[in-house]
Amino acid sequence: MSEQWIFLNGEFVTKENAKVSVYDHGFLYGDGVFEGIRVYSGNVFRLQEHIDRLYNSAKSILLTIPYTKEELTDLIVQSVQKNQFQDAYIRVVVSRGVGDLGLDPYKCQNPQVVIIVEPLAIFPKHLYETGIEVVTVATRRNRPDVLSPKVKSLNYLNNVLVRIEAHLANVSEALMLNDQGYVAEGSADNVFIVKNGVLYTPPGYVGALEGITREAIIDMARELGYVVKEEPFTRHDVYTADEVFLTGTAAEVIAVVKVDGRTIGEGVPGVHTKRLLEAFRQKVVAEGVKVYHTNVNAG
Ligand code: PMP
Repeated sequence: MSEQWIFLNGEFVTKENAKVSVYDHGFLYGDGVFEGIRVYSGNVFRLQEHIDRLYNSAKSILLTIPYTKEELTDLIVQSVQKNQFQDAYIRVVVSRGVGDLGLDPYKCQNPQVVIIVEPLAIFPKHLYETGIEVVTVATRRNRPDVLSPKVKSLNYLNNVLVRIEAHLANVSEALMLNDQGYVAEGSADNVFIVKNGVLYTPPGYVGALEGITREAIIDMARELGYVVKEEPFTRHDVYTADEVFLTGTAAEVIAVVKVDGRTIGEGVPGVHTKRLLEAFRQKVVAEGVKVYHTNVNAG
């Protein structure tokens, strides 16, 4: 494989040279924000939405990204071009930057911007055919008035703890409940249930990231004629749903066929989930910011 280039503070460096300081507050305190973005057949999916969410996350924690949205958009496109990938996962990280060992973010003068482009498809293919098993875990979703799940911050410990519980239960993903017991989301994906042909997903106030795939699925499902309701629901509703699926940049649309030992529907990916995944896969290659063959107008 040819050299992998990573954008790090104003220049492209090789993977071996992509190093950040141990005094970076992203490392010391999880002080920063990030995005995960997909490229499908040379099209960056919903790049504007990811950029907007990144800047909103940064605004929320009073972190100034040292580029305009247009500049950062252009840098992301350049990163894909430089690595010449057609299908890829992009990680954009903006950390508070180097400071001292104290917590004070005002001592960090230069936020660090990193763009990593990886040539991978994330979930193993067969899982889309079989569906996955999940559990609900004891770790509750951060309350929105503590650390808002809408901020995609580098502080993912809440999610990491969920992954640990999933691992201990021998499954690959788990669902978090909020402090009131309503289902919030997975460790890195949003959740939908289907009942009598109607789609339900928790509304933002339940405490979940405003997923860009979630939004795309809601729009697409409505275009396909589905009724989609953003309503809180409980574990009972999940157990008794006809279908359950997760959405995310990495997961795309993946069926959940067992939850806490309860088989969902027939125990295989359901018709609606399959239909939505198929439509999603058509959509992602058809739209998006084209990385190649066009002049990228960052404006
Ligand atoms: N929830 C969490 C906690 C996540 O980390 C992600 C992945 N970004 C999602 C949901 C799904 O969001 P998106 O569709 O924007 O990738």
